[in-house]
Amino acid sequence: MATAEEKALPEGFVPVNEEHCRVCGWTDGGLIWVDGYGTHDVCPCCGCEAGLTDMGWPGDGRALESVRSYRGYWVGHGAVWDRPYRRPRGWDLVEQLASIPPHWR
Ligand SMILES: [Zn+2]
Repeated sequence: MATAEEKALPEGFVPVNEEHCRVCGWTDGGLIWVDGYGTHDVCPCCGCEAGLTDMGWPGDGRALESVRSYRGYWVGHGAVWDRPYRRPRGWDLVEQLASIPPHWR
Protein backbone atom coordinates (compact mmCIF):
# COMPACT_ATOMS: atom_id res chain seq x y z
CA MET A 1 0.00 0.00 0.00
CA ALA A 2 1.31 3.46 -0.95
CA THR A 3 2.22 5.91 1.80
CA ALA A 4 0.64 9.38 1.94
CA GLU A 5 3.90 10.84 0.63
CA GLU A 6 3.92 8.49 -2.35
CA LYS A 7 0.27 9.29 -3.10
CA ALA A 8 1.11 13.01 -3.23
CA LEU A 9 3.68 12.54 -6.00
CA PRO A 10 2.47 13.36 -9.51
CA GLU A 11 1.84 10.45 -11.84
CA GLY A 12 5.01 9.59 -13.74
CA PHE A 13 7.24 11.23 -11.12
CA VAL A 14 10.76 9.82 -11.14
CA PRO A 15 13.09 10.90 -8.29
CA VAL A 16 16.06 11.49 -10.54
CA ASN A 17 19.43 13.07 -9.87
CA GLU A 18 20.85 14.88 -12.90
CA GLU A 19 24.03 16.85 -13.42
CA HIS A 20 23.73 17.77 -17.12
CA CYS A 21 21.56 20.63 -18.33
CA ARG A 22 18.58 19.11 -20.11
CA VAL A 23 18.66 21.81 -22.75
CA CYS A 24 22.35 22.19 -23.64
CA GLY A 25 24.21 19.40 -21.83
CA TRP A 26 26.44 21.72 -19.78
CA THR A 27 27.73 20.49 -16.42
CA ASP A 28 30.21 21.50 -13.75
CA GLY A 29 29.79 18.15 -12.03
CA GLY A 30 27.23 19.35 -9.49
CA LEU A 31 23.62 18.16 -9.40
CA ILE A 32 20.98 20.46 -10.90
CA TRP A 33 18.10 18.00 -10.29
CA VAL A 34 18.04 16.24 -6.91
CA ASP A 35 15.55 13.48 -6.04
CA GLY A 36 13.29 14.61 -8.87
CA TYR A 37 13.32 18.31 -8.09
CA GLY A 38 15.16 21.06 -9.97
CA THR A 39 17.57 23.12 -7.88
CA HIS A 40 16.61 26.35 -9.69
CA ASP A 41 20.26 26.84 -10.57
CA VAL A 42 20.51 28.79 -13.81
CA CYS A 43 22.66 27.19 -16.50
CA PRO A 44 25.52 29.60 -17.30
CA CYS A 45 25.51 28.33 -20.86
CA CYS A 46 21.91 28.38 -22.14
CA GLY A 47 20.21 30.18 -19.23
CA CYS A 48 17.80 27.33 -18.47
CA GLU A 49 16.62 27.28 -14.85
CA ALA A 50 16.59 23.71 -13.50
CA GLY A 51 13.06 23.03 -12.29
CA LEU A 52 11.45 25.88 -14.19
CA THR A 53 12.51 26.17 -17.84
CA ASP A 54 13.03 22.40 -18.05
CA MET A 55 10.08 21.44 -15.88
CA GLY A 56 8.96 17.88 -16.12
CA TRP A 57 10.27 14.41 -15.63
CA PRO A 58 11.93 11.85 -17.87
CA GLY A 59 9.25 10.12 -19.88
CA ASP A 60 6.91 13.11 -19.71
CA GLY A 61 6.36 13.95 -23.37
CA ARG A 62 5.34 17.53 -22.63
CA ALA A 63 8.54 18.22 -20.69
CA LEU A 64 10.62 16.75 -23.50
CA GLU A 65 8.77 18.91 -26.02
CA SER A 66 9.43 21.99 -23.88
CA VAL A 67 13.14 21.18 -23.50
CA ARG A 68 13.49 20.60 -27.25
CA SER A 69 11.68 23.83 -28.02
CA TYR A 70 13.95 25.85 -25.70
CA ARG A 71 17.03 24.12 -27.16
CA GLY A 72 15.94 24.87 -30.71
CA TYR A 73 15.32 28.52 -29.85
CA TRP A 74 18.67 28.84 -28.05
CA VAL A 75 20.73 27.16 -30.80
CA GLY A 76 18.77 28.97 -33.52
CA HIS A 77 19.74 32.28 -31.94
CA GLY A 78 23.44 31.46 -31.99
CA ALA A 79 23.84 29.41 -28.77
CA VAL A 80 24.86 32.56 -26.89
CA TRP A 81 26.15 31.97 -23.35
CA ASP A 82 23.96 33.36 -20.60
CA ARG A 83 27.11 34.14 -18.64
CA PRO A 84 29.83 34.56 -21.27
CA TYR A 85 32.63 34.79 -18.67
CA ARG A 86 31.93 31.15 -17.77
CA ARG A 87 32.53 29.93 -21.32
CA PRO A 88 35.63 27.69 -21.42
CA ARG A 89 38.38 28.29 -23.97
CA GLY A 90 37.92 25.99 -26.91
CA TRP A 91 34.28 25.35 -26.03
CA ASP A 92 32.57 23.12 -28.60
CA LEU A 93 28.78 23.35 -28.93
CA VAL A 94 28.36 20.04 -30.74
CA GLU A 95 30.52 18.20 -28.23
CA GLN A 96 28.47 19.62 -25.37
CA LEU A 97 25.14 18.84 -27.04
CA ALA A 98 26.30 15.23 -27.35
CA SER A 99 26.40 15.00 -23.55
CA ILE A 100 22.68 15.74 -23.16
CA PRO A 101 21.18 12.70 -21.43
CA PRO A 102 19.60 10.44 -24.07
CA HIS A 103 16.08 10.78 -22.65
CA TRP A 104 16.27 14.58 -23.05
CA ARG A 105 17.48 14.60 -26.66
ZN1 LIG B 1 22.02 24.70 -20.37
